[in-house]
Amino acid sequence: MANHPDNVRIAIKTGVEETTLETHPWPDLGPDEGMLKIEACGVGGAEPEVYRAGDKWLPVAMGHQIVGTVVAMGEQAEKIWPVELGERVVIQEYLPCKSCEWCLKGEYRFCPEADFFGGSNPQRYGLIDPTVGPKLVGGFAEYIQLPWNTVFHKIPQDLPAELATLAIPLGNGVQWATLDVNAGPGKTVLVVGPGQQGLGAVLGAKDAGAEKIILAGMSRDQTRLDLAPELGASDIINIDEESLLDGLKRILGPDGGLDVVVDTTGDPGGKNMDQYLEVANYGAWLWVNCMDRGVPTRAIKQKYLTVRSGRGRSWWAVDTALRIITSRRFPLEKMCTHTFGLEDVDLAIKATAGREVEGAIHCIVDPWK
Ligand SMILES: [Zn+2]
Repeated sequence: MANHPDNVRIAIKTGVEETTLETHPWPDLGPDEGMLKIEACGVGGAEPEVYRAGDKWLPVAMGHQIVGTVVAMGEQAEKIWPVELGERVVIQEYLPCKSCEWCLKGEYRFCPEADFFGGSNPQRYGLIDPTVGPKLVGGFAEYIQLPWNTVFHKIPQDLPAELATLAIPLGNGVQWATLDVNAGPGKTVLVVGPGQQGLGAVLGAKDAGAEKIILAGMSRDQTRLDLAPELGASDIINIDEESLLDGLKRILGPDGGLDVVVDTTGDPGGKNMDQYLEVANYGAWLWVNCMDRGVPTRAIKQKYLTVRSGRGRSWWAVDTALRIITSRRFPLEKMCTHTFGLEDVDLAIKATAGREVEGAIHCIVDPWK
């Protein structure tokens, strides 16, 4: 970049539920590094958890649903990166080794360098302590540094940045519903939890050809439940108005069952699992996010079930999500309910958690707003 600003603004989490807008000088770049001008950065569904944490992730440069334009590249980066100066990209949060078995498969999420469970300091945008290395390493900023191992997805010139920020959450939905548990042609699918990723699971299942897609949520999710039919949901269950089981029986009839369940809620304690086991068809696939429940081996054997859980998403899942987004077949702009400036990152994160702002689905930070 021939001309660049002397200073860059970035919002850093400096306290529990507190970010500070910092200004840092434009960094000196190595030959294998670059800079991205941020167009927009979405707020992730799990980001409020990082925001609340006091014992870890402090300080941390938050923001990992990053969309921008490559504005500087070192000499070596120009040779090895799959992008050119001036190209628009979505980048994934993983900063992997790019040479292990998992990286070579495009499964950067399992690379020992980036694995959330693999060590105390996973290298991922959104979770990096900016006091021990490069400063510009979180998406709630005007520009960020691109290290040699950045994972890129190119996006078309005419794709609105706010839609592109959905690539990561919708990529999760695609991974979890279709690649993990085979929501596909002819299948009856239940998605529980209408957050960004639950809606992404609905969209992924619809795109993959699922026949019936039931979405369950609560009254406080009404905005999301109202939008879901336009993203592919065929039926809605509001569990504040009827139990999940009653809703499923109403929709499926007395003899109907589920081929696929995707529970994006975390289901604390696994309280929903018994209901899934009851309504699952023989041979069904269940995707659950709870980590603290015994494995129901008897039901798994009786019904020949497959149970999986969530571990981020592959490169291909984001690629598929971007194909769905750029097809413009779904009114995804309706998911992008709120845009905030850099001064309002705190409010953007709180809104994502359902606090202080009504009806938020996907919140976006636009550093140029
Ligand atoms: Zn690796």
